[in-house]
Amino acid sequence: MTESEHDIALEDTDRIKGHAALVNNVKAAVALAGAVRSTLGPKGLDKMLVGEDGTSIVTNDGVTVLETAKVEHPTAQLLISTSSSQDRAARDGTTTTVLLMAEILQNSLELVRMGLHPTVIINGYRMALEESVAELLRISKEIPDKKYEKAIISTTLAGKIESSVLTLLANSAIEAAEILSDEDGGEDLERLRVKRLQVSNGGIKDSELIHGLVLSKTRLDPQTSSFSNGGRVAIIDGGFENKKIDMDASIEVTNTGSLREFHDRSLIKIRKLVEHLTSLNIDLLIVRDGVAEDATSSLTKAGITVYRRLERQDIELLSKMTGANLIRNPLKIKDSDVGSYAKRNEKLISNIKHTTIEGSHGGGMTFVIRGSSPEVRGEVKRAFDDALGVAHRLKRHPQMLPGGGASHVHLARHLRIFASSQSGREQLAIEAYAAALEIIPRVLAENSGFDPIDTVLSLSAAQNNGGSDGSWIGLDIKLGQNANMMEAGILDPLFVAKHAITGATESAINVLRIDDVLWAKQDAQTPDWQNESENED
Ligand code: ADP
Ligand code: MG
Repeated sequence: MTESEHDIALEDTDRIKGHAALVNNVKAAVALAGAVRSTLGPKGLDKMLVGEDGTSIVTNDGVTVLETAKVEHPTAQLLISTSSSQDRAARDGTTTTVLLMAEILQNSLELVRMGLHPTVIINGYRMALEESVAELLRISKEIPDKKYEKAIISTTLAGKIESSVLTLLANSAIEAAEILSDEDGGEDLERLRVKRLQVSNGGIKDSELIHGLVLSKTRLDPQTSSFSNGGRVAIIDGGFENKKIDMDASIEVTNTGSLREFHDRSLIKIRKLVEHLTSLNIDLLIVRDGVAEDATSSLTKAGITVYRRLERQDIELLSKMTGANLIRNPLKIKDSDVGSYAKRNEKLISNIKHTTIEGSHGGGMTFVIRGSSPEVRGEVKRAFDDALGVAHRLKRHPQMLPGGGASHVHLARHLRIFASSQSGREQLAIEAYAAALEIIPRVLAENSGFDPIDTVLSLSAAQNNGGSDGSWIGLDIKLGQNANMMEAGILDPLFVAKHAITGATESAINVLRIDDVLWAKQDAQTPDWQNESENED
């Protein structure tokens, strides 16, 4: 194809090329980053997000703001997905990621204007990233004890939730993570093993972590016991009824004779099912769907307590906690599918009877979230999710870094020295990258009412003169002064910082690689179905 043929093929698209494409993309990223900038840090402000249906949430959480935003620009969408990926992988550091990515891009524009080719800039950024990750690892410290673990979780929660519940959330998250610490499972283990149950009654301070799965229901037959010190449990991933009989019913039930016959046959099948369960020697039966009415009394006679109509997530958690397999057809349950539990009891939560089941195989817990309004409970839930996610990951990656902008200021200082050792033009890219990292202390200062430029200058000097632990000097926002972050207890997990800087750099590089943006024009022929049908009427 010749150049002109290309142009013909692309006649239905809008096209932005080269420098203009980059400027356009960077503008989109910077504009979106501006939307979360003021939420960074413990003094960050909240955003109120109002949906089309009038529902609203108030949040301080960067990723929540972005995921709710309606944006069409592809670069803006890339920025949002970078922040979502940070949320999935690390559960924290989402605002940091977005600010870093936008600032790296912003600084790239300068480099391009100076005549640096994007390939050189990308090379420089790659070198800077590699050096930064190694340096973060070098200055990081092993978490010495529980006290510091708590300080890290409290730093995560700072500004996200009122301080009166901060300790409660941090302690609950650490306790839950401890229980899950030697369990196998993927990244989402903590979400699957800790149920969040929202209860409208009470204040947020009454929220609590309960060992075991809490169900907002009671047993099917009140005649059975409400308490048990453990036993054998089977889980049916469906209904405890005979579907085939239901189908026959519509055909056969034409007179009272066949109705009785149908009823008898149904009873026989149910009896068979109950006999089968009795032979498995279980005393607790969990049914995802309904239970045939005729079955209730026979199950009670067989000494089996039943809970029915459970959420899928609940039966999956129960399966993990008890070792029982989820089986669709009750007749197919084998001895090896039966699990065991340690305790079951019923108690009032918010004046409603709830059942708690504790497993004897794997850890499973319920965090009962109380609060007067759904908005308040939503914010507590998001804060607890972050705290638990970080606490859980800390068990696997127990290294920490100084917060309060200290690690970013340190990296910037370190990279400037590293840059000067490079003879190529990459040196300029590394310097621009170093300057971009300072966006974190700058915005932390800005959001707390301090001067951003003075803050970074004074931090740099303090680190430089601070001796061997100089790199741990950061900005203590509450005191409004520089401090050793270890002593101040302002600590970030290494995995959060590492993932944030890596994700931000890689996404910025992806944007820099683009030198041509083709926008498909809206197809004028697209029929407007709604109007058409109205016209027909
Ligand atoms: P993110 O979404 O990136 O986690 P946050 O709003 O949670 O954004 O802010 C996290 C930043 O706030 C981290 O850099 C952390 O070190 C910093 N931070 C938290 N508490 C303090 C504090 N008391 N003083 C200074 N910085 C703090
Ligand atoms: Mg955070």
